[in-house]
Amino acid sequence: MKKIVLATGNRDKFIEIKELLTGLPVEILTISNYPGLEMPEEDQPDFAGNAAKKAETVAKFTGEIALADDSGLEVEALGGRPGVLSARYSGKEADYKANNFLLLKELEGVPPEKRGARFVCAIAVSVPGDRTYIIEESCPGIITDYLRGEDGFGYDPLFLYEPAGKTFAEMSSIEKNRVSHRGLALKSVLKLFEELL
Ligand code: IMP
Repeated sequence: MKKIVLATGNRDKFIEIKELLTGLPVEILTISNYPGLEMPEEDQPDFAGNAAKKAETVAKFTGEIALADDSGLEVEALGGRPGVLSARYSGKEADYKANNFLLLKELEGVPPEKRGARFVCAIAVSVPGDRTYIIEESCPGIITDYLRGEDGFGYDPLFLYEPAGKTFAEMSSIEKNRVSHRGLALKSVLKLFEELL
């Protein structure tokens, strides 16, 4: 059976990606299956650049097809921040709670019509000795002014998906995956794998 190595150390993203790839005739591994593999720094100016850098590093080291994603939140009123720095928005030791707190603070007093945002997800699939495919998708929403919902991760409790009238944290994983930036990107990845495998 062919193997795909997921180049993510983020457990929440790993769970979402694995769920979306279920059904493919492949064995799904992660970077933790390869001791000694060092992930590169995410120092590129855009999501696609970071995803490609990670996927290519892993494909080269493992000799297997590697999939990496880089994602984040772009907030209009903040000129697109936190963007590629979404995971580290409130500092190097940032966690989801501190990031959400800072986002609420930065948007204090900003009216609903100016609280537009979008989640972006770039996925890179690197085929060893061959090319790297890049897929990018986004999902628009509004940043709420208080935390809503218990599910999901990261900025989900502050991200209102307007067509559902709910934040991502108030939606089930099935509902979220159907419309989310990562869900949409993985749908295209599935099509790509059908050609590659
Ligand atoms: P990275 O892709 O590992 O650099 O991290 C992206 C960061 O963006 C995560 O740590 C989350 O804070 C945020 N993020 C990305 N996708 C989502 C999502 O689906 N829901 C909530 N937060 C997300």
